[in-house]
Amino acid sequence: MPTAILVHGGAGAIFPDDRAHACARGCLEAARAGHRILAAGGSALDAAVAACVVLEDDPAFNAGTGSVLNADGEVEMDACLMDGSNLRAGAVAAIRGVRNPIEVARLVLERSPHVLLAGSGAERFARAQGVAPWPASLLVTERALTRWQKERDEGWTNKPGTVGAVAVDAQGHVAAATSTGGISSKHPGRVGDSPLPGAGTYADDETGAVSATGQGEAIIRVVLAKFACDQLAAGDHPQAAAEAAVRRLGRVQGEGGLVVVDRQGRIGLAANTARMSRGWVDAEGNEGCAFEG
Ligand code: ASP
Repeated sequence: MPTAILVHGGAGAIFPDDRAHACARGCLEAARAGHRILAAGGSALDAAVAACVVLEDDPAFNAGTGSVLNADGEVEMDACLMDGSNLRAGAVAAIRGVRNPIEVARLVLERSPHVLLAGSGAERFARAQGVAPWPASLLVTERALTRWQKERDEGWTNKPGTVGAVAVDAQGHVAAATSTGGISSKHPGRVGDSPLPGAGTYADDETGAVSATGQGEAIIRVVLAKFACDQLAAGDHPQAAAEAAVRRLGRVQGEGGLVVVDRQGRIGLAANTARMSRGWVDAEGNEGCAFEG
């Protein structure tokens, strides 16, 4: 069966243009990393995680290194991984002190009876699984700090950004991964849509895989990722499903976007923001990247 991977680096205003180009290129690098796994016969789950790790480690994105800061000036991250072959999901919320939250989400999926672990409990789980502590100072970039100081002085701008990957492998299995620092200057302990299966992340072999980005509170209220999968179930092409989901987001005046892949390897994406960086390798092996919304 054809393989495909589609990666996003967050919806919202990415300025200036050279930064937007850098984000698009970063997404393409991530998509290539995932596609190498798919091309070698690897699983969609491995590909989605690999792509997400590349983006978490790239300081240009609001996930892992480069995450925005909460109101206390600290990094708290959310991530979710879902396996469409068996509907298993693993997620972490408001986790600190790890380099790659998506890898902890994977450990939750594979080695715990739970779906979502939050805060200090998630950190304890990560340590027990051998995940090395990662100093908060290494997650904080100059840009995140400058934004936080500006917001503290001038008020909350609620700037979003998130990374995600959806993939389908040669066995026809789909997977979705999403990782984020959330929204800047958020209340400590705030959890967004990204780690919630059905809201920011969803994967089901019977339909497809989805990763969303944008205002988490709005995305949660319309259960956006599952909504898009339901559109696939009703016969929509992934592009039509993504567009319908963005219209649905309008129901709660939400801003954001999403990426979608179905089990045939068809891809779709839509956003109602000015920009959304993304990169892909499609079922024909064509690769590309873009950032306009
Ligand atoms: N959806 C993320 C959140 O609300 C932020 C984003 O995607 O920009 O936590």
